[in-house]
Amino acid sequence: MSDPVLADLTTLRVGGPATRLLTATTTDELVAHVTDAWDDDEWLVLGGGSNVLVADDGFDGTVVLVRTTGIDHDADADGVTVRVAAGEPWDAFVASTVDNGWTGLEALSGIPGTVGAAPVQNIGAYGVELSDVLTRVEFLDAATGERAWVTAAELALGYRTSTLKHGRRGAVLTVEFRLGTATEAGVPVRYAQLAGSLGVELGSLVAPSTVRAEVLRLRGSKGMVLDADDPDTWSAGSFFTNPIVSRQFADTLPFEAPRWPAGDDVKLSAAWLIEQAGVHRGYAVPGSRAAISSKHTLALTNRGGATAAQVAELARYVQVTVLNRFGVSLVPEPVVVGDLLG
Ligand SMILES: Cc1cc2nc3c(=O)[nH]c(=O)nc-3n(C[C@H](O)[C@H](O)[C@H](O)COP(=O)(O)OP(=O)(O)OC[C@H]3O[C@@H](n4cnc5c(N)ncnc54)[C@H](O)[C@@H]3O)c2cc1C
Repeated sequence: MSDPVLADLTTLRVGGPATRLLTATTTDELVAHVTDAWDDDEWLVLGGGSNVLVADDGFDGTVVLVRTTGIDHDADADGVTVRVAAGEPWDAFVASTVDNGWTGLEALSGIPGTVGAAPVQNIGAYGVELSDVLTRVEFLDAATGERAWVTAAELALGYRTSTLKHGRRGAVLTVEFRLGTATEAGVPVRYAQLAGSLGVELGSLVAPSTVRAEVLRLRGSKGMVLDADDPDTWSAGSFFTNPIVSRQFADTLPFEAPRWPAGDDVKLSAAWLIEQAGVHRGYAVPGSRAAISSKHTLALTNRGGATAAQVAELARYVQVTVLNRFGVSLVPEPVVVGDLLG
């Protein structure tokens, strides 16, 4: 039997073979597979493969594919506590919360991947982050071998970051959320573009199902909902995070550069910087099958037949162009597996 090819398991559709692939369909199996795998030199836990860039020479180690299922909940007068197995598909779970009248996740509709990966980079969209509703995760810790609940505070969740993304090795087995229950008034809209497209003021209350439908429509128009027939969605979503710089540095940028407060610092728009540096939607390095999405400047896409090296080349081109024009270093958002971006 030939080695499993990771391009088949990632939304960027690139990545060479793994030495061994183990699929976990129950939490006990996930614990057993990861424990077995960490005896190898190299191991990788993989969910939906929607936030990874895997090198063309693949992964010389064991990949544990998380396909566990199961959702349970306890309701009380103030809301509902929901525990979800790591392998549950994120968006199907969000859809079920909206159907059940549970609130807090509707703005995170349409994000690909699994529930277990959501805390890794504290997923966020349309004014909401996972940290708004995450209470704790059940975690198998590779450093100690222990299986225990870890609170959200201990994960140090920040903008597209957590301890899970940076150093804390192991497997998220279960994720626990604290959600609200729908009132007739609805949920507040916390993102200006979403409020605008709904035709309401920022902060207005809107039915969760309406928020979900509009978020899916907006995301679809940007190629941010997976579609097997649309290469604009063959990506890892936004390839670069929005850079956070000092106020002093932000003052050196053109007045019209979009900026938002980020504590004592300032968050810039990576998409604006890329566009203004002269890299436009649809751009591809000549001869390459990797290109900027035609619908979203921040998405690096595979137009069919791209290699990981081509995606990395495009990423470096964007980084160098923005650095030369504005002096800002763009940081890739996906987890890079292999030696690709230096
Ligand atoms: C079209 C598109 C749109 C996107 N839009 C958004 C968006 O709006 N907001 C956003 O934040 N992200 C977005 N993303 C990125 C991505 O969908 C999320 O980061 C998602 O949570 C990744 O889930 P996954 O299961 O695919 O993770 P994978 O890509 O499989 O893994 C990502 C990382 O998490 C680790 N990991 C996965 N599962 C586990 C586990 N159970 N335990 C421990 N570690 C684990 C992996 O080892 C890897 O390091 C988008 C991606 C695409 C392709």
